[in-house]
Amino acid sequence: MAKRDFYEVLGVGKSASEDELKKAYRKLAMKHHPDRNPGSKEAEEKFKEAKEAYEMLSDPQKRDAYDRYGHAGVDPNMGGMGGGAGGFADAFGDIFGDIFGQAAGGRGGRGGPQVYRGADLRYNLEITLEQAAHGYDTTIRVPSWDSCETCDGTGAKPGTSPVTCTTCGGHGQVRMQQGFFSVLQTCPKCQGSGKINPSPCGTCSGAGKIKRNKTLEVQIPAGIDDGMRIRSSGNGEPGMNGGPPGDLYVEIRIKQHAVFQREGDDLHCEIPISFAKAALGGEVEVPTLNGKASFTLPEGTQSGKTFRLRSKGIKGVRSGYAGDLFCHVVVETPVTLTERQKELLREFEQLTIEGGSKHSPQTKTWKDKVKEFFE
Ligand SMILES: [Zn+2]
Ligand SMILES: [Zn+2]
Repeated sequence: MAKRDFYEVLGVGKSASEDELKKAYRKLAMKHHPDRNPGSKEAEEKFKEAKEAYEMLSDPQKRDAYDRYGHAGVDPNMGGMGGGAGGFADAFGDIFGDIFGQAAGGRGGRGGPQVYRGADLRYNLEITLEQAAHGYDTTIRVPSWDSCETCDGTGAKPGTSPVTCTTCGGHGQVRMQQGFFSVLQTCPKCQGSGKINPSPCGTCSGAGKIKRNKTLEVQIPAGIDDGMRIRSSGNGEPGMNGGPPGDLYVEIRIKQHAVFQREGDDLHCEIPISFAKAALGGEVEVPTLNGKASFTLPEGTQSGKTFRLRSKGIKGVRSGYAGDLFCHVVVETPVTLTERQKELLREFEQLTIEGGSKHSPQTKTWKDKVKEFFE
């Protein structure tokens, strides 16, 4: 039987994020788990297939190789993957590992200590709408880890050396009984390293590494939207026992803007207009994120009317053209009038009444409805 495409197996697109992969895999694993499908060969095959696909695609290096060369790029027997079709207890262990956010990486070969990919880090970056629209280069301070110079990264006090962990015999993991399952878990004594330091290094408290900060340059692409994430590969926490580092995700938060509300690539704003201007019409100048623009207000514009200015919105990260700017007209009733202004308005009102209902069609329609309702 020809091997199915890994993305197809998990039912996700080629650009699926790690989260989407994880969700898709968890769903399939729950559905096809042998416990729920006793004796079903088909479910068992599907379960193994999903496990293999997820193991490949959740590893950035393997995924990259697979994207480039297909199945030929990833040898399922390489790198201690356990042959891709490990026992069910193993697979279930993976799901547990998933939930607790540990076992994202493969195992470092049978018998050796466990190799872990470092944890991913998230950095929340708040930017303005203008910065989001035009793109923005900035620097952020993120944690980084250096190998401890005192102990040369071993975690052991100079002159002493780490000894093999007796709890796991240096394997880094222990077999635990959970209900009907036997599950491999990270050794609680040595945290998976397989070694214990009888006299930990004083400088790094036995960790072998020291946390510092480093400055990263981030280029925010123009058009980025609230909630989008930028991945900085390899800038997460360091891996364990030679495992690869995690990634850093910069998550974008866009500050509330005083004038504009963003909806996708469109912008919305309210434009207050005097009632005289609304009645007479004329040019209205409006701000945009790229300078000023204007539109023609027709005579007799009512409050609530929206004017659409094409391409005055935001050009999204992945879209080829800019969104639109929607101007919502709000007719403002004049306040704190002088006697003279009031006099003119009274005269104006008298003329309007004498002119009949043609000057106020909405009022006429409304009066007709009220009349109908009471008769
Ligand atoms: Zn040290
Ligand atoms: Zn141990």
